[in-house]
Parts: sequence; C-alpha cells; structure tokens
Amino acid sequence: MSVTSGLRQHQVDLSIIVPVYNEQEVLGIFHQALDSVLAKLKPLAVEVIYINDGSQDHSWSVMSGLFSREADIRCFNLSRNFGKEAAMTAGLDASTGQAVILLDADLQDPPELIPEMLSAWREGYDVVNMKRTERHGESRFKVFSAHCYYRLLFAMSDSPIEKDVGDFRLLSRRVVDEIKALTERSRYMKGIMSWPGFQQTTLTFERPERIAGETKWSFLQLVRLGLAGITSFSVKPLKLATWAGAFVSGAAFLFGLWIMVKTLLVGDPVSGYPSLMLVQLFLGGVQLLAIGILGEYIGRIFTETKGRPLYIVMDEETTAIASNVVRAQRHG
Ligand code: UDP
Ligand code: MG
Repeated sequence: MSVTSGLRQHQVDLSIIVPVYNEQEVLGIFHQALDSVLAKLKPLAVEVIYINDGSQDHSWSVMSGLFSREADIRCFNLSRNFGKEAAMTAGLDASTGQAVILLDADLQDPPELIPEMLSAWREGYDVVNMKRTERHGESRFKVFSAHCYYRLLFAMSDSPIEKDVGDFRLLSRRVVDEIKALTERSRYMKGIMSWPGFQQTTLTFERPERIAGETKWSFLQLVRLGLAGITSFSVKPLKLATWAGAFVSGAAFLFGLWIMVKTLLVGDPVSGYPSLMLVQLFLGGVQLLAIGILGEYIGRIFTETKGRPLYIVMDEETTAIASNVVRAQRHG
C-alpha cells in the first residue's frame, strides 16, 4: 500500500512531518509543544503527519492516540524500520500542504521556530534551511566530525548542499512535487532537498539537547549515511582514483628511470628490499581503495536497478479536526 492511497480530497496550508523511531517517552511532550505553537497559527489549516518507522516500543499506540484541536493528525505505521530518510520520504509523499516542514520528534528542532519559517515562506522563499550555530548535548567528537563532514560534502557535491543544515527545513509545494518526482532509491535527504534549487534562504538556530531518550545513530550508521551522501551526490571519488592512478604511474616512471641510471652507473644489483616492499604495499593499498570506491558506486547501481519501494505502510490512521472535537467533547 502506498501512502498516497489514504490521501484526502482537500489540501491543507501546512503539513508537518515527524519521523518517529522508538520515541514513546518524548512523543507526548513533543505533541503538546507543537500544539501550542499551532494554536498561534490560526486560521491556517494544518496537518501533522507522524511516521512510525518500525519502532519496537509503544510509539505507534502513543501516536495513534494523539489528538489536537489545531490540526488534523495523520499517522502512518511502516512495516519495519526503513530508516529516517525513507520515513521522511513517506511523509513527503503523504503531505498535501502548500508548505511542508520536517521536524524531529525529540524537540531538537524547536517547533517555536515554525512562525519564523512561515514568514520567510510568505516572503516568497521555496526552501527555508535551518542552520545550527550551536549543538547542545552532543559529544565534542560528534560536533567536530559533523563539522568536517559537512565541509567535505560541500566540496565534493555537484549540487550545492548548505553546511550545518540538517533535515529541519521548510519546503514549498512545488519543491516537494519536484522531490517526489525523483525516483532514486538511495535517499540522502539533505542532498535531495537541496537539489531542486528554487529560492532558498537560511535561518540560524541553536540546536538544543534531546529532551529524553537517546540518539538513534551509532557511529557506524553515521559513517554509512555520510558515505551514502557523498556517493549519491558526487562522482568526484571516482575521479580521485583516476588522479591517484596518474600520480602513482608518473612517480613509478620517474623512480624506474632513477633505478636504471643508478644500476648503470654504480651497479648495485641486489639491495633495495625495503623500497620494494614499500612500493608493493603502497600500490596494493591504493588499488584496494580504488576498487572499494568502485564497489560503493556499483552497490548503488545494484540497489537502484532493483527498484524496490522505499517503504511499506502497514496501517494508517487519520483524526481530522472535526472528529477531534467530538472526541474531546466525549472526554468532557
Ligand atoms: N528516526 C527515524 N528512523 C530511524 C532513526 C531515527 O525515524 O531509523 C527519527 C527519530 O525518531 C527522530 C529523528 O529521526 O525523530 C532524529 O533522530 P535522532 O534524534 O536519533 O538523531 P540525532 O538528532 O541524534 O541526529
Ligand atoms: Mg535528535
């Protein structure tokens, strides 16, 4: 079943997409914080789309019990954990809003900034990037590696990717429609969301600490996501192998000349074991690295050709504002 099957007839002004994976402790607090911001946005028609990305805890039952007087609540239950990138894609596919905002469930992307993002959108911007100036409650190592990574990605990528901007951003309907038309399987959303271009602006904010629970990313997963980002948005690493090959061949040629001249002038037939070993190992390393880079790209081609769906929706629940009111009245 695809997410669009549950699409309602009418469209809303604003869709808020929240990917959720094992967030039972934070969902209630998040929803309240969001709701109090939404109350100030009237008379905007808003839908909140929660995507349960195969949580092992009670996130699904918590989210499907949420209601709001300010917005329609639409919950989608994915059949397993497909990863945040796929969950966000599911949200974008389901969204009907003229503006769409992606938010993390742990309040690290403060909902209080939504009005500011909306005013930038009303000024005519299609993409409002939210740039982190500080990251609270994250290890120095994570902050430093993220800092280096964003710069590396920026240098490598063929389309401009804004530095220190996570998934927290506002997209206009036409940008979302362009993104939905992209069929690629490897969803590196930071790249995909910048790819269409359009009028972009960047607001800054200090990223607060997670309110409860723990980050879902291990170091290895971050490395994997980072590699996916580079290999799906750039072919520069492939060229790197060409350049390294050219450099090593050039150096080998010069070294060969030098050995020839030395043998002719001095003789010296047997010595040179250390240099032989060194060159062997170095070349072996460079070759394996180049094969590894090729492998990364071949792996991407492999997943792309299989053309499997990005996610599967198992259950879906919508609580429109009208029925919220009924439910709220019934509860007194
Ligand atoms: N998330 C998800 N699927 C995953 C991992 C994470 O939907 O496989 C969600 C998670 O519930 C949260 C958001 O993605 O709403 C960001 O995750 P997290 O806070 O763990 O990442 P961090 O802020 O540490 O980068
Ligand atoms: Mg977080």
